[in-house]
Amino acid sequence: MVRQRCAFCTEHPIEEAAVLRWIGEDRERLTLWLCDRHLRRMQRAGRDGWEHKGKLHKIGWW
Ligand SMILES: [Zn+2]
Repeated sequence: MVRQRCAFCTEHPIEEAAVLRWIGEDRERLTLWLCDRHLRRMQRAGRDGWEHKGKLHKIGWW
């Protein structure tokens, strides 16, 4: 099933991605639908993570 919206904006998602969301030692392993823009944003941020609402996000659960 394809969701109509990206997890972070109103754009149509292109991919369901494994995303690690963390703040300090608090880690969440999520599966989020992402649009092209947000997917690229996280890919660009790499291991440093992309910050959104005080939490960091990166592609992959490791
Ligand atoms: Zn988006």
